[in-house]
Amino acid sequence: KGDPRLEAISQAIRVVPHFPKKGIMFQDITTLLLDHKAFQDTVDIFVDRYRNMDISVVAGIEARGFMFGPSIALAIGAKFVPLRKPKKLPGKVICEEYELEYGTDCLEMQVDAVQPGDRALIVDDLVATGGTLSAAIRLLERMGAQVVECGCVVGLPEVKVIDT
Ligand code: AMP
Repeated sequence: KGDPRLEAISQAIRVVPHFPKKGIMFQDITTLLLDHKAFQDTVDIFVDRYRNMDISVVAGIEARGFMFGPSIALAIGAKFVPLRKPKKLPGKVICEEYELEYGTDCLEMQVDAVQPGDRALIVDDLVATGGTLSAAIRLLERMGAQVVECGCVVGLPEVKVIDT
């Protein structure tokens, strides 16, 4: 709050009404990626916050957490771990379900990626209900990691439904 960079970052995110379906105000961060300064500022704000928190692992949520997480991990000297949709990761994985509007989905993590004592930052583009982040937290905690914080570019104060 009060950071002059935030206004430009906010302006760089395109809002697309009724995507991918009616009633959703889709926050499209691909336009932020096209704006080098706003993209750099976004990563820098996370890096400034997390660089002295002794974070050893940045876990990015598929797919848009992958667009911010690795840059943050490299800058703060942490490893990067992808949390992926089912059946994408080889080897032994653990899985946590989360609620969708209709039904459930799953996030998976490779068990050898995280060790007890790891200090984790979870990164995604956006938090709405927090269901996805909750599944991510459970994955990290099951492997004995401590989740220090979740960092998202956009926080929706509520799930917005707009009139058609
Ligand atoms: P939630 O689990 O409800 O917090 O939803 C967060 C996840 O859904 C994130 O991975 C987002 O990328 C995606 N998401 C939910 N709502 C939106 C939205 N309005 N615009 C863009 N992405 C969204």
